[in-house]
Amino acid sequence: MPKTIQILPDHVVQQIAAGEVVERPASIIKELLENSIDAGATAIDIVIRQGGIEGIEITDNGHGIDKDQLQLALTAHATSKLSQESDLHQILTRGFRGEALASIAAISHMQLHSKPSSQEHGFMIASKGGDISPIQPSAIPNGTKISIAHLFYNTPARKKFLKSANTEKNHIISQIKKIALIEYGIAFKIYLADQGKHKLLYHWPAHETWLQRIETIFPGDVKEKLLPIHNNQHQHLSIEGYISNRHLSFSRSSEIYFYVNHRPVSDKTLQAALMEGYRTAMMEKRYPMAIVKIDIDPQWVDVNIHPRKNEVRFSGPQQVFQELAFVVKQSLSQQKPSESNLHQVPSLNSNQSSVYSLNKNVASEQTHSPSLTGNYTLSSPALSNFSQQASSLAEPRLPYTADVSENTQAYFAQLNFIGHIDHTYLLCSNQQSLVIIDQHAAHERILFDQFKQQFSKPSHLQKSQQLLTPVTLNFSPEKTELLTENLETFAQLGFDLEIFGPQSFILRTTPSFLIKQDAKVYIENVCNDLLSNHQSTQGLEDSIDHICSSMACHSAVRAHDILSPKEVDYLLRTMDTVDLASYCPHGRPTYLEYQVADFEKLFKRV
Ligand code: ADP
Ligand code: MG
Repeated sequence: MPKTIQILPDHVVQQIAAGEVVERPASIIKELLENSIDAGATAIDIVIRQGGIEGIEITDNGHGIDKDQLQLALTAHATSKLSQESDLHQILTRGFRGEALASIAAISHMQLHSKPSSQEHGFMIASKGGDISPIQPSAIPNGTKISIAHLFYNTPARKKFLKSANTEKNHIISQIKKIALIEYGIAFKIYLADQGKHKLLYHWPAHETWLQRIETIFPGDVKEKLLPIHNNQHQHLSIEGYISNRHLSFSRSSEIYFYVNHRPVSDKTLQAALMEGYRTAMMEKRYPMAIVKIDIDPQWVDVNIHPRKNEVRFSGPQQVFQELAFVVKQSLSQQKPSESNLHQVPSLNSNQSSVYSLNKNVASEQTHSPSLTGNYTLSSPALSNFSQQASSLAEPRLPYTADVSENTQAYFAQLNFIGHIDHTYLLCSNQQSLVIIDQHAAHERILFDQFKQQFSKPSHLQKSQQLLTPVTLNFSPEKTELLTENLETFAQLGFDLEIFGPQSFILRTTPSFLIKQDAKVYIENVCNDLLSNHQSTQGLEDSIDHICSSMACHSAVRAHDILSPKEVDYLLRTMDTVDLASYCPHGRPTYLEYQVADFEKLFKRV
């Protein structure tokens, strides 16, 4: 027999609705903070009792609620923030559904005190699971205070899913942080209530600038590791924020904060765009810190797609994606070691490279015994040794005559090369810092950049050389398939490969940088890399990146390779011209920089 359909009683409807809005105590905090912000508050105090499970109290100095509106505030679908359908497309307030207070009231004991400045006295309304008691006077200053107790008392199934008080407290704190990070003009105080006492856990005063708030919430040296991003703002879209440089990354994406029209959101498009911007500048399975504000015409974004308003939908996600990825990449590639240093380094004229001037030092050094008062440099014995070894190398691997245009903003070219450590790390300095360059990582980035250019600028074709006699190469079925799929990409990089048999190819040309290497071994190595990476390859751009990065890795000078001074000079000068010079294509750092201030710390002078 079919079952009877009946309309649910109001309080059951409310409990079901509350289930969507209130997942845990942190969701209540979010809704109440949003209400205080919408009310124009400039100071908000929060008290948390037992992770919010026993109680939450939020006091603000916003515009308050009139006495005769108190009951409406607790009624479902009652809001002061929109009144007609068209308002739904213009939402700039945090709330708009008129659901939060009614939902929270349905599953807890609530007291709502409020006093608008226009009223001489404040009033209070109380609710137990949605049963509202008569309005009473309340001695409260201008603003609103809401206290919640006995959370989920009438929905025990929900209560069972709560974690420990400590875990719930941590969820609350990270929720408040997320909101306070963007609302820098509002002062926040967070107290933990314990046996009648309130312990102040955090106090974030109102700040004049966004960066000050970021610094307060993330103290220590985080600020020094952030790079600003911003787009060329236009009418519909403005992007502004801070992203971490190569000295700060995390194993989870928990330090990525996005705000769309001031609303904290988690959004796959934005996250993907951010990571696209970091492409080849972040190691695999690592995530940056990012605090990014997107202001967009409210018509272009739907904020009404998630019960807790944690997600949004853009009507032009592609444009937002491209713009964000672009500004991130731009900021990372402009990243140079401390700009201020650039002005303190005396510039060398064009025919006097750092290495040559250093060689002169070495020559004069060798005739003097080192003295601390003289022109003594710590590196000289190492360097003379180095020069001898280097000159014995018949053919340098780095094309030191390559065309590197004069770069007046040069940072690397103006470094003094001091010597190397383990024929792997190049020690360099300028007046303000010691710079240590990983020769393999740096060369890898340079080559990667050059290979990539061949795809964006076809005129810049990789010089290839005709083999005297074409060679036939055989590969495993797996590699054959891979090469066949990517024949064109390899051709653009200088390998003219032609399918010859089921598992063989004729190789007619190789890129000219491959002079000294066995082409077969080289191609085998690149294929091995690509095959082991295959799962993570998503699209054409990804596969080009992987091929270029693998080729760069197998062509770059290695650790322990002995470089000639000219080769070092080439490396330094070219570093100035590449995008993302600070990262090798796998996202590892290419150099480390220690400034005077770092030494002062290390030597305990400060
Ligand atoms: P919404 O925020 O979607 O409007 P809520 O249920 O959260 O719905 O709040 C209902 C109404 O109560 C709000 O529209 C607002 O007018 C009023 N209100 C709630 N909290 C505050 C507050 N802290 N200060 C002033 N008004 C408030
Ligand atoms: Mg609200």
